[in-house]
Amino acid sequence: MELCTYKISIAGTVQGVGFRPFIYTLAQRYLVTGTVSNNSNGVEMILNADRLTLKQFLIAVEYEYPPLACIDSIKHKEITYQIFDDFQIVETKDKGDISVNIPPDVSICTECEKELFDPKNRRYEYPFINCTHCGVRYSIVYDLPYDRSHTSMKFFQMCKACESEYTNPLDRRYHAQPIGCHDCGPRLKLMDNKGQLTQFTTNEIDKTVTLLEEGKIVAIKGIGGYHLICDASNKDAVTKLRKRKNRPRKPFAVMVLNMNMARDLAFISMIEEELLVSKERPIVIVKMKEMHSSVISPNISRIGLFLPYTPLHLLLLDKLKRPIVATSANITDEPICTNLESLQKLQGVYDYVLEHNRDIVNGCDDSVVMVVKEQQVMLRRARGYAPVRVKLPFSLKHTVLALGANQKSTISIGFDNHVILSPHIGDLDGIASVEYYEKNIETLQRVYSFKPEIIAYDKHPRYESTKVAFEILKSNENTVGKEVQHHYAHILAVMAEKQIRTKVFGVAFDGTGYGDDGRLWGGEFMVCDYEGYERVSHLEYFKLLGGVKAIKEPKRVALSLLFSLYGKEVLTLNNPTTKSFSSVELRAYYTTWQKGLNAPLSSSVGRLFDAVASLLGICQVMSFEGESGMMLEELFDISVKGCYAFGYENKKVDVLPLLDEILQEKDISIAVTKFFNTLVEIIARVYEPYDLPLVLSGGVFQNRVLLGLVLERFPDAIISNMIPPNDGGISLGQIMATIHTSRS
Ligand code: ZN
Ligand code: ZN
Ligand code: FE
Repeated sequence: MELCTYKISIAGTVQGVGFRPFIYTLAQRYLVTGTVSNNSNGVEMILNADRLTLKQFLIAVEYEYPPLACIDSIKHKEITYQIFDDFQIVETKDKGDISVNIPPDVSICTECEKELFDPKNRRYEYPFINCTHCGVRYSIVYDLPYDRSHTSMKFFQMCKACESEYTNPLDRRYHAQPIGCHDCGPRLKLMDNKGQLTQFTTNEIDKTVTLLEEGKIVAIKGIGGYHLICDASNKDAVTKLRKRKNRPRKPFAVMVLNMNMARDLAFISMIEEELLVSKERPIVIVKMKEMHSSVISPNISRIGLFLPYTPLHLLLLDKLKRPIVATSANITDEPICTNLESLQKLQGVYDYVLEHNRDIVNGCDDSVVMVVKEQQVMLRRARGYAPVRVKLPFSLKHTVLALGANQKSTISIGFDNHVILSPHIGDLDGIASVEYYEKNIETLQRVYSFKPEIIAYDKHPRYESTKVAFEILKSNENTVGKEVQHHYAHILAVMAEKQIRTKVFGVAFDGTGYGDDGRLWGGEFMVCDYEGYERVSHLEYFKLLGGVKAIKEPKRVALSLLFSLYGKEVLTLNNPTTKSFSSVELRAYYTTWQKGLNAPLSSSVGRLFDAVASLLGICQVMSFEGESGMMLEELFDISVKGCYAFGYENKKVDVLPLLDEILQEKDISIAVTKFFNTLVEIIARVYEPYDLPLVLSGGVFQNRVLLGLVLERFPDAIISNMIPPNDGGISLGQIMATIHTSRS
């Protein structure tokens, strides 16, 4: 057959994932000549082949592409005939443009794992083994394109053996940027909490295993930050960690060696297993078999499990042969520690630190997911998933930087029909957090050579993210600001992920977000499209006694609702809520409630959960966010049917009848279950007249029981699977709100 020359363009995630060597190998197999190179859109090939070979070649591309690649499109066309002597990988010269993504960090692959445990391999037990199919990426990148010289591996000079692998197109480590070995790559260092190197006769891993066996707490430098680690089966060690970290009740994540160990601890569905062993290796929230260790997750039957995702963790667990608690090392209200300097503030928490000398450039927490009704729900989108590119259902006219919310903040940049969403950054509660957040904004813009024409931000005037938006706007005259209502952004984020183009009926059940009327919204029903939204219903406002204090103290919300129900009579009532106040306090709060002093109005369903938890004596003051909701989940009883009364008039949902009935209920489990059922009934009632797709978003839908019940009642309801329903999704939604914003 006649030889022709074809130009083939492949778009998608095809850079930094071993795509060109893969093409090179195919070229050897099909005996074709030509070139392959990276360009700003992906990978481009010039191929000299006959028609049949071309066809086979393209089929092979489509079916055999490397594990980390993701192909959006393959296009080919015939071009002027050229002659090639062989097939070559041509180096990229240009910086490329923003349509190329930074690849996320990926867990160790099976081939590397085999080599890691093969005594004959030269990387036997090398804790930083990697290849083009696995290993660190995002966390070590300073800049694009993703080349070794733009990563923190640039400080390591490759040895001869590594270099020959790195430059051999047929090798699995061809252009594996973090390549290294015992001779030339990063190394471990074990120190005590004073920074003194410890004396020991074995290697660092063995010594660390011994320390863990002795019940010590070891800070271990991982991919995107440090973990605080201890033996999960050692009650004293876990208790010590709780005390030192001042974390009395919040469940700890547990890392297990393999699926067998995971199954010893928990019930794991097929989808949960797929997630656990996936290349992203997130923390997966699963049901514990029995209250295995009440210190790991006190009073809560779910734990977060994950598998080792680096060779280092794998080596440790393989030797230790028991589960470990692995919790992010950070100081309250501060981001995850990414260097020794920041870690040292935790000296009082850890006994030893297992350090290594490869810098973490971009901090990145572990991702957290759960499965509800066979659907993946992302609770924290970070390592393995981020940064990610979301394809939009249309093109943006302007470049947009969206600054997210104040809690669980993320940032996004939008251009053409793409959004790049940062990993979870965290709560902007302290100076260090805000600095870290600003650094993330700076990094994302620099790496993508991005200049925003529009800045999108939350409506809340006191969010740190809003303040940052104003600073950016002040210093960039040509940039236009766009404030976006919080719950509208929640719904838009789902619409973006699901590429929805039609009007939807959005239910935003949330903690709190700033409303158009200055109230704290959070129980909203809104008809939305990309033009705007209409708030068609909401929970009747109630007062949050003590303002922000009410967010951590369910008893304040409950008391306020009790005043709404019974007025002054509350002072003589005897229930778990009133009992948690002194009579002096009760009288004082009655006055502030009456006068509305420091008592902002809210329609938040999150706060309603808190109130119910308080009224039933389940939780009066929370030790961590979401605690009351988790406790309510525990008490849900599937066998209980029925629900309580609620009012629905003038487009407002009145929950007071519901609370009145809850107070009459003798059985706490019945009360909780009927409360959940009532929320579903409320959604059904308000949604009934609308013939629109039902979209659910907002932090309250992290509640497994509620989400499960709503999905059972409305199997077609749309939730996001890749983007968190909590405020981690806000920045994506904000971008969507700008499509009709013009710069003039
Ligand atoms: Zn590998
Ligand atoms: Zn080497
Ligand atoms: Fe929110």
